[in-house]
Amino acid sequence: MSIRRQLLRADSLADPVLGEIGRAAVLIETDETVVDNLSFERVRVLAAGERTDVDQHPLAENAEYINLPGRTLLPALVNAHTHLDLTSVGPRPYEPEEGFASWISMVRESRPRDPGAIQDAVLRACGLSRAGGVAMVGDIAGDWTGEPGDALRRSGMWGVSFLEVFGLGEREAASIDRLTEMVGGFCRRHERVKPGIQPHAPYSAGPGLFAAAADLAAAKGLPIATHLAETRAESELLASGKGPLAEMLASFGLWNDSCAESLVSGRSPVDHLSAAFAKAPFCCAHVNTCGSNDRRALAGAGASVVYCPRAHEYFGHEHDLGPHPYRELMRDGVNVALGTDSIINVPPDQADRLSTFDEMRLLFRRDRQDPTDLLRMATVNGACALRFDESCVTLAGDPHEVAGVAVLDAPSLREGLERDLVPRLLAGARPSERKQ
Ligand SMILES: [Zn+2]
Repeated sequence: MSIRRQLLRADSLADPVLGEIGRAAVLIETDETVVDNLSFERVRVLAAGERTDVDQHPLAENAEYINLPGRTLLPALVNAHTHLDLTSVGPRPYEPEEGFASWISMVRESRPRDPGAIQDAVLRACGLSRAGGVAMVGDIAGDWTGEPGDALRRSGMWGVSFLEVFGLGEREAASIDRLTEMVGGFCRRHERVKPGIQPHAPYSAGPGLFAAAADLAAAKGLPIATHLAETRAESELLASGKGPLAEMLASFGLWNDSCAESLVSGRSPVDHLSAAFAKAPFCCAHVNTCGSNDRRALAGAGASVVYCPRAHEYFGHEHDLGPHPYRELMRDGVNVALGTDSIINVPPDQADRLSTFDEMRLLFRRDRQDPTDLLRMATVNGACALRFDESCVTLAGDPHEVAGVAVLDAPSLREGLERDLVPRLLAGARPSERKQ
């Protein structure tokens, strides 16, 4: 095993814990490790901070010096909600007049089904993630064969491969049985990529399925996620049993009395899932609408919210539901991370990468959010939402392993956000050949 030690010297480093430091350096150690017959580059940060301090580190003496003038070093970013297998679909426009239910039908028809095509799409998405400085993802595996999780492992990325489950009305019990059987076969040998569970959404999984999934997640120590409070149609369905999603379920032959009885609670989407939230800390994608009681309930349950700003704009949720409540959620103590959702909703001119840095830029430009706060949302908050230790996405602290180190072609984080720049992964999460 060969260990390489490198001293990366840049104009600055930006870190969720250290903040921004000018004339900075990061001392890293990389080695090749083999897990489950696959080889990966493992990256340890030995020291990070002002160049004059890091240069004095005893282990810096024999390190290879890499000078990066005009650049900023960052910890690898986290994309806490995405659908990597949909990368093969590519960016598509959204037609508001046709509605969300019609968009869901398009995704169901266009998604890859063949195992080889799924692997290819996920591996390609991992490459696009690295091109955007992302090394950890919360991926919603749209397939039960294990292909998306295998591809994630093979790529050298970190994250969670969430097994997605649907089941309403009469189909709910069978979904619970199937999920229980699948989860019984999960193993956690590969700690960089964990299995997780995702009941799809309150309009596609019944409350019994949510509760059973939360019990399984709590018993097995697995991350659990869902799509929540995404559209007005979802709130309308749960409140009154009416609207476009009720019509969509009817068109799938799923809407009947037993389905209506379990779904129509007259409550908000967050309140509708309160029993499941009491059992396990959910990672909730979107939460585009959320009152103060709901925010307090999410904070009390230790739930995280993954805000996907570009997806929010793509669907025009602001016109329908108002601004996203991410600042109110954070103020009320909810952990808020950033996600890209799938490449389908990424603007075509940004589709050469799949990066939460583009989400940070949108919030920086539109809302003038503080750059370091945005970096927290795209790093430590994301790791926390995916149940990883936050140390894997900060350069701060005693020597420790990280998901990766990224580099931005700008002398400061703020300048990178102001210009059309994207960080790329410098070390970590590199794909390697399968060992024979
Ligand atoms: Zn999603």
